[in-house]
Amino acid sequence: MKRIYMDNAATTPVAPEVLQAMLPYFSDLYGNASSLHSFGIEARAAIEEARSKVAALINAEPSEIYFTSGGTESDNLALKGIALKNRKKGRHIITSSFEHPAVLEVCRALTRLDYDVTYLPVTRDGLVEPDVVRAAIRHDTILISIMHANNEIGTIQPMHEIGQIAREKGIYFHSDGVQTAGKIPVDVEALGLDALSISGHKLYGPKGIGALYVRKGVKIESIQQGGGHEGGLRSGTENVPGIVGLGRAADMAKETVTDEAKRQTALRDRLKEAVLGRIDESWLNGHPSQRLPSNLNFGFRYIEGESLILLLDARGIAASTGSACSSKKLAASHVLTAIGLGPVECHGSLRVTLGRSNTMEDIDLVSQAIEESVSRLRKMSALGPR
Ligand code: PLP
Repeated sequence: MKRIYMDNAATTPVAPEVLQAMLPYFSDLYGNASSLHSFGIEARAAIEEARSKVAALINAEPSEIYFTSGGTESDNLALKGIALKNRKKGRHIITSSFEHPAVLEVCRALTRLDYDVTYLPVTRDGLVEPDVVRAAIRHDTILISIMHANNEIGTIQPMHEIGQIAREKGIYFHSDGVQTAGKIPVDVEALGLDALSISGHKLYGPKGIGALYVRKGVKIESIQQGGGHEGGLRSGTENVPGIVGLGRAADMAKETVTDEAKRQTALRDRLKEAVLGRIDESWLNGHPSQRLPSNLNFGFRYIEGESLILLLDARGIAASTGSACSSKKLAASHVLTAIGLGPVECHGSLRVTLGRSNTMEDIDLVSQAIEESVSRLRKMSALGPR
């Protein structure tokens, strides 16, 4: 049985070239980048080369890139670091109601420290409307954090417009770019960003490594004290193999992102048409066009998403319901709830996220497997059409 992986929003495989680049840093090149001898100098040089590559991926300066342990830490550092450093200016933060928990839970923690957070509503297509952002701004707003693209439904936000509003009002603008960096072109200048979170394992790099872009001059405080690594913003001996892997992954993504986005868009649209065309009472969650090339999120009436995942898995197909982080909870997805779906509709969702390994042949196999599995489940369902 051919195994087909279509859960690339949860994680991606480490690219062979990335693994090759990392391997020497587990064996011969094991120096601590803070050491003054040649072992340390080699490690430092590798880190700085990786920093330049990550910067190039998002049109930043190398000095604006800080390595972290992943997307979650980057979000924590951006939100807490900016909130703490700017608390004399104000204590109000604006975000959206369907951010990843790495942002939402940080906001909840900040609320316990007497910060005030506004969670903006989103449209049925999953858009944060710039006018709604503008209307939420107060005299004490210090930070706006809106994810570049949603991890469940793939809607890409009008970042440029939101960035312009933030700039005009002198408010910092952070984005969780975990689902976009390496998947679509990302330019921090064009988007008007002050901070951007990136995760290695979503762009064919290793797990446990990430980066935070912080625009030069942004006032941000360290949330992890220690030996003063990463310009004093993120202490801890650098994960040299991870950083080298992220650098190589960023380099590869920069080379391929435009062509790969085009290729995946064609695959995505074929799968969308096949599924929606052949299955009654099915729909697409998220924006019809302003969405990630890799993302489809379907809704099927009379279906339990979890049962569908298990049937597909039995046929060698990996997909998901909602986000990987919440799919074990069985609670209705906060993202689907935010776009206005009721609990029953939320439970009938299927997220398919494409990656570099997927082909047209996969698309045809998967659309057929979805069609047959939905039909089988509906026949068994007490709720379903008879
Ligand atoms: N933000 C988004 C939008 C994500 O999709 C994820 C991972 O699922 C994260 C943050 C967390 O990133 P990491 O797994 O690197 O901590």
